[in-house]
Amino acid sequence: MNDGPSRVYGYVGPPELRSTVRPDRAGRTIRSAADLDTWLSGRGAAEISEPFTFVVALDGLVRLAPRRSEHVACAGGADVLAAGEMGFVPAADRWAVDEVTNHSTGYCPNLDSWQAVGRALDLAGVEHPGRFTHEVVFRLCDACGERSIVREQDFVCVFCGNALPRTWNAGP
Ligand SMILES: [Zn+2]
Repeated sequence: MNDGPSRVYGYVGPPELRSTVRPDRAGRTIRSAADLDTWLSGRGAAEISEPFTFVVALDGLVRLAPRRSEHVACAGGADVLAAGEMGFVPAADRWAVDEVTNHSTGYCPNLDSWQAVGRALDLAGVEHPGRFTHEVVFRLCDACGERSIVREQDFVCVFCGNALPRTWNAGP
């Protein structure tokens, strides 16, 4: 992994989900382990046992929102450096990330968005696995224009059967 500039991801999900963007639905900014502790302490045990929606905003900081939140709402409608789902476990004296993915059909981020995630968690002083624990491969089909998730290295569009490129292309 290099420390080059992060790619910026624009929203590519269904236009109607932009209506979920409201000031009171934007994700909580996590600047420190204390912020994370405060935010998680407001959640129930059942909710904490499942991953949350997250984005890394253009300021390089993590935003967290309840599990079924749309990423675009978590981001306040803005572009992001990363998006996905993130789960937490109690560590010695604070919360740590135990699972984290780039699973966001709203932004379809590339795997190298990990750099922005790792940097944001390091900034906040939150321990993490050092990589996505589950990697989602998004591609845009040149033939039919649909975005899909590539499973088991099978680079074929599930909608039309066209071959998909090996390099990430799922941006706006
Ligand atoms: Zn297709």
